[in-house]
Amino acid sequence: MALIVLEGMRFHAFHGVHPEEQVLGGEYIVQVEVQTGIALAAKTDDIELTPVNYETVYQICMIEMAQPKKLLETVVTNIIYRMKRQFSQMKSVKVQVKKLHPPIHAKMGPHSATQNIKPVSGTVAAAWVQDESSFVTNCPRCKAPFLCYADDTCWCKEIPNVHPATQETLKRQFGSTCLCTNCLKLYAG
Ligand SMILES: [Zn+2]
Ligand SMILES: [Zn+2]
Repeated sequence: MALIVLEGMRFHAFHGVHPEEQVLGGEYIVQVEVQTGIALAAKTDDIELTPVNYETVYQICMIEMAQPKKLLETVVTNIIYRMKRQFSQMKSVKVQVKKLHPPIHAKMGPHSATQNIKPVSGTVAAAWVQDESSFVTNCPRCKAPFLCYADDTCWCKEIPNVHPATQETLKRQFGSTCLCTNCLKLYAG
């Protein structure tokens, strides 16, 4: 198993709900961690699998950071989705997007419980959102562990030789979870 990490990717971006964030933008730090498992790799002769390389990871982050979003949650989710589309051998992926010195528009009323505290501007160092997905699962047919992204980004959606009718039968029998490569080969025509 290998761990591939890109830390401290810095961007000037325009995410956020406040006008100053959308016009002036702010500083962001992005971190991505990917675990790849060769033993569990969903490798078949039919599919060309792309190894996880960090220049591509950086490019993916750059593309998503360039799309202004109101919420960091959306940015994180979009990076993970693009990672899944690009790389088919990830055991897990963790993405963190950190906004440095976020503007805080807190209300300080005279009668509120906060009257004894004075905010110093710029004192919030960072706000960040992190999400992690793990893709190791057990084949519903043979119980062997394998990798499944469980959505339209999964490698198995590109298996060319399983007839659509057979795919429907498999779906009825095993649910929407994929089967492992060995089991799918049994059904491939
Ligand atoms: Zn199986
Ligand atoms: Zn799958």
